[in-house]
Amino acid sequence: MNDCLFCKIVSGDMPSAKVYEDDQVLAFHDIDKKAPVHVLIVPKKHITSVAGASDADLDICTHIMRTAKKLAADFKLTDGFRIVVNTGKDGGQTVDHLHFHLLGGRSLTWPPG
Ligand code: 5GP
Ligand code: ZN
Repeated sequence: MNDCLFCKIVSGDMPSAKVYEDDQVLAFHDIDKKAPVHVLIVPKKHITSVAGASDADLDICTHIMRTAKKLAADFKLTDGFRIVVNTGKDGGQTVDHLHFHLLGGRSLTWPPG
């Protein structure tokens, strides 16, 4: 998708602070972090959202979870962390390319606003 911000980050057309990459996913620091550790994990393939994903597309979520677990260990989030997938307007999704937020490094409140 030419006009997709996260596709541009995946392709390198837009810069990002990369923390992990493999053949399927890219992880990079959120530009406006909501916690001491705030990483976005995205599939390299353009998938709009959980709601917009095919059943086959959703297979990537297992690998993203595996990546989130590894990064939480790398960032030493031993007291816990949160994984968030905002979806659609009411879910607060602002970038229409599937992404998982990994948040940690402080005590997070619940429920979200
Ligand atoms: P959403 O609100 O869709 O769940 O999450 C989108 C996230 O992307 C937000 O947390 C926002 O700060 C982050 N973001 C928006 N633009 C950029 C950017 O250009 N670079 C990076 N690294 N993060 C961005
Ligand atoms: Zn995209």
